[in-house]
Amino acid sequence: MSPGNLMNDNVRRVDIRDCSIGGPELTIMAGPCSIESREQIFKAAEVVAASGARFLRGGAFKVRTSPTAFQGLGWDGWKLLREAADAFGLLTVSEVLEEDQIEKAREYIDLAQIGSRNMQNTPLLKAFGRSGMPVLLKRGFGCTIDEWLHAAEYILREGNEDVLLCERGIRTFETATRFTLDVAAIPIAKARLGLPVVVDPSHAAGHVDWVECLTLSGVAGGGDGLLIETHPDPAAAKSDGKQAVLLSDFGALMEKAGRVAAAVGRTVPAPSMLAAVAR
Ligand code: PEP
Ligand code: MN
Repeated sequence: MSPGNLMNDNVRRVDIRDCSIGGPELTIMAGPCSIESREQIFKAAEVVAASGARFLRGGAFKVRTSPTAFQGLGWDGWKLLREAADAFGLLTVSEVLEEDQIEKAREYIDLAQIGSRNMQNTPLLKAFGRSGMPVLLKRGFGCTIDEWLHAAEYILREGNEDVLLCERGIRTFETATRFTLDVAAIPIAKARLGLPVVVDPSHAAGHVDWVECLTLSGVAGGGDGLLIETHPDPAAAKSDGKQAVLLSDFGALMEKAGRVAAAVGRTVPAPSMLAAVAR
């Protein structure tokens, strides 16, 4: 066994504004699946900032299975995300669906998410490569580690090295969870490509009851960051409410993540420090 797998000797740091991802401290990204209202996103920003998050997440352009499901607030959503993040000293992460959105995304988004369903959209990958914008590349839920890493290479080959990988679960024969979190993919991806890996326990779990277990597994498995869905009122959420951690439970989850991080030689930002950032 190589204990180095959990350390980051060969992992490149990705610096986004004042945040360095891939070092000993995990980067916490949290917020609702979708931006729904000013009140909702400001409440989320306040709580996640006070609990150690550096990034506020929230989708404005949603990829939904059904065309009749909520599709997001679009540009208005991105404006709200930026305002809420700025108010609490946070950076923003949100999915960018198409090449035409990239220029405008720079105004609002610090880290552009390429969604699971777009992981093999090679024109989009190349466009992000040319753009130089920091990218969070989610693993396609039907894709092997190899295919995921090749997708990342499309971005890297255009000269953009600010790439974070995101393990968010893959489809297996198991249906008790929404997807199956592939914990081994974390050290394998890091060893193969030397990029930081962010773990998304929310989409893998599909239900809030399993989010804590997958969060802690992701930290123990060497994740360099966490992307977690949280909502002030999950029952009223317009997307992915079942898997959303209640905002008032988020701080306790981060506290547990911090204890597991310590066991593998990593840290999670302490809540008190975070409150200072928020002010
Ligand atoms: C999301 O982050 O809300 C999302 C849609 O993720 P994925 O692309 O992993 O399904
Ligand atoms: Mn979601």
